[in-house]
Amino acid sequence: MRILITGAAGFLGSHLCDYLLADGHQIVGMDNFITGNPENIAHLMGNENFSFYKHDVSNYIFTPDKVDAVLHFASPASPNPDSERAYFNLPIQTMKAGALGTHNSLGVAKAHNAKFLLASTSEIYGDPTVHPQSEDYPGNVDPIGTRAVYDEAKRFAESLTMAYHRYHGVDTRIVRIFNTYGPRMDLEDGRALPNFLKQALLGEELTVYGNGQQTRSFCYVDDLIKGIVRLLYSDENFPVNIGNPDEITILQFAEAINRVTDNQGGITFVPSGRSARDPQRRRPDVTRAKEILKWEAQVGLDDGITRTMPYFKEKLGL
Ligand code: NAD
Ligand code: UDP
Repeated sequence: MRILITGAAGFLGSHLCDYLLADGHQIVGMDNFITGNPENIAHLMGNENFSFYKHDVSNYIFTPDKVDAVLHFASPASPNPDSERAYFNLPIQTMKAGALGTHNSLGVAKAHNAKFLLASTSEIYGDPTVHPQSEDYPGNVDPIGTRAVYDEAKRFAESLTMAYHRYHGVDTRIVRIFNTYGPRMDLEDGRALPNFLKQALLGEELTVYGNGQQTRSFCYVDDLIKGIVRLLYSDENFPVNIGNPDEITILQFAEAINRVTDNQGGITFVPSGRSARDPQRRRPDVTRAKEILKWEAQVGLDDGITRTMPYFKEKLGL
C-alpha cells in the first residue's frame, strides 16, 4: 500500500513509518513539527519508499498521487501544563488537529477510496467511572475542563470518522491508545515517562504529582505498533483499545524507574496544576483486541524501561 501518515515526525508516527516500511509499504509522511522532531525521521530521508511533506493538516491536504490508506496521528499529545509542547499550551492547534485535521484526512481517504485509521485515545473515557475501560463505556468528560481541548477534539474525531464510515462508506478504523512509552519520546513534553527517566538518569528526585496513587497502564511502543498494524489489516470498523493492562500507581511507576536505572535520587511529591483533573484510574479492557486482532502486549515494564534508556542517555549526552 501507499500510506499517508500524519504526525509522521512524532513519537508514534515515526515508529509506524519504520514498521510499515519494513512490511513492504510506501510511506508518505506529513508533519508540521509543532511537537514532533525532524530527527525522528532523519534516518528515512533518502529511502526511495519514503517521502515527506511539511504541512499543517488543519489546512487542506493536497495528494496528487494515489493513496491506499491514511493514518491520522497528527495532534499534540502531552497533558502537562508545565511543558510548552503540551496541549494545555496549544489549545487551539489541538482542537484544529482533532477536528479540521481529521476532516481533511478523512477527505483524502474518501477521495482515494482508501482505508482510514484514527489515532484516538483513552482520554475519550475522561476520568472514568467504570474500571477497566471497555470500548462500550461512553466516558466521563467535562467539555469545558482543562483537558477538554484534547478529549473533546478526539471525541469529535471519532464521531466524524464513524459519520464518514456510515454515510460515505469509508473503510475506517479507530484505535484507542492507552499510555505508551519508548525511544523517541520528546524528553521535554512533560509526560510521566520522559520526566521520570530523564530525572533518574541525571540522578535527581522524581517528581510525582499529587499523592501518586492515581493509576495508569503503560505499554511499550513496539507492542502498541504491532496492535495498530493488526487493526489496520483487519476488517474492524468499531473502536479497539490497544494498551497494556498491567495497572500500577504512578508512585510504583516512579519506583520502578528508580530501580531499573539504579537512581539513588529518591522521589518527591509535588502539587501540580493538572492534578485537579488528573484521571484517577486507567486500565484498558483489551478483550476486543485479543478476540478480534489476536493481539496482546508482550513487553513488561522493566524490560521496556531498559529498552528506552539508551535513547534517553544519548539525548542527555550520557
Ligand atoms: P507526538 O507529539 O510525538 O506526535 C504528534 C505529531 O503530530 C508531532 O510530530 C506533531 O508535530 C504532529 N502534528 C501535530 N499537529 C499537527 C498538524 N496540525 N499538522 C501536522 N502535524 C501535526 O505525540 P505521540 O505520542 O506520538 O502521539 C501521536 C498520536 O497518538 C496523537 O494523535 C495522540 O493523540 C495519540 N495518542 C498517543 C498516546 C501516547 O501514549 N503516546 C496515547 C493516546 C493517543
Ligand atoms: N506525572 C507525575 N509526574 C510527572 C509527570 C506526570 O506524577 O513529572 C503523573 C501525572 O499526574 C499522571 C501520570 O503521571 O497521573 C501520567 O501522566 P502523563 O502526562 O504521562 O499522561 P496522562 O495519562 O495523564 O495523559
